[in-house]
Amino acid sequence: MFVIDCPAHRARMILPVERIRGLHNTDAGILLDLECYCGHVAHIRTGRARTPAPPLIH
Ligand SMILES: [Zn+2]
Repeated sequence: MFVIDCPAHRARMILPVERIRGLHNTDAGILLDLECYCGHVAHIRTGRARTPAPPLIH
């Protein structure tokens, strides 16, 4: 389940995974395109941003 702020509904909406229309893995995290029941497509970021590798210990 995902929460979006839908401007058409003027409300916070809870959307199930079935409403995912796009998924992009990026260094900034996972970008999701979610389609609300009204047709509005919201873009949210989820997951963890890629963190740099810890320094090597010599
Ligand atoms: Zn909506």
